[in-house]
Amino acid sequence: MGLLDGRVALVTGAARGIGQAIAARLAAAGADVAVCDLEAGWLEETAGRIRQTGRRAEVFACDVSRADQVQAGVDRVVEALGRLDVLVNNAGITRDTFLVRMSETDWDAVLNINLKGVFLFTKAVARTMIRQRSGSIVNIASVIGLMGNAGQANYAASKGGVIALTKTAARELASRNVRVNAVAPGFIRTAMTDKLPEEARQRMLGAIPLGRFGEPDDVARTVLFLAGDESAYITGQVISVCGGMVMA
Ligand code: NAP
Repeated sequence: MGLLDGRVALVTGAARGIGQAIAARLAAAGADVAVCDLEAGWLEETAGRIRQTGRRAEVFACDVSRADQVQAGVDRVVEALGRLDVLVNNAGITRDTFLVRMSETDWDAVLNINLKGVFLFTKAVARTMIRQRSGSIVNIASVIGLMGNAGQANYAASKGGVIALTKTAARELASRNVRVNAVAPGFIRTAMTDKLPEEARQRMLGAIPLGRFGEPDDVARTVLFLAGDESAYITGQVISVCGGMVMA
């Protein structure tokens, strides 16, 4: 028996990287999984991994920063799969540069996708989860939201905001048995980190006590724990998945 048998999950930004690993891991635990990304065509590989487990995959295109697309996507998932038990807010971008050089466009793009997107999806699923009197929302933040990082003012602010939003939503929804938690990954090997210069990668490796970069599935296994009943008494928390880079 899987930890998520009979449950329905929705993962944003699931075409690749951490989101794809989360979708596959939740399906392997028994959930039917809806996945979205900017273009539906990019989700074929993810949908294939979900269906390989014998679970249903529902695919839809959605820009997480657009309220109309978010609401339409959530409505479609509930209609197609019957309920919604788990939301994983994973979609995110970086537009790195030093504060004095950062354009308003790059600030807005990162805040709109990384923070407003989490707000819009949380709001859109809240009604369904409140009605069900159960649900688990897992937000993918970052250790950068806890510690800051030179060259990432927009990203750090967005992820710090996600952590504050997580705690607030957890307080508002707890009485309806809807839990809200965040995972703060450190350096995980994906397209997002592949673009960093080798020198920066080596510097970061030196700051990781466990001595290796993380894999997308390191994050996915923590999300699975927070998504299911193993974490039934945990809400409003931030779990760092960072090889010990940050110790709170
Ligand atoms: P990734 O490989 O770039 O994947 C992110 C996915 O989100 C991409 O498929 C991307 O599509 C999609 N996306 C971007 N903007 C979107 C939008 N407006 N609406 C819907 N989907 C959108 O990144 P990742 O490394 O897997 O990161 C996943 C999450 O983990 C992010 O929130 C990131 O901040 C967080 N995180 C990652 C690390 C790390 O080390 N990798 C560390 C800490 C936190 P495109 O192909 O168009 O970009």
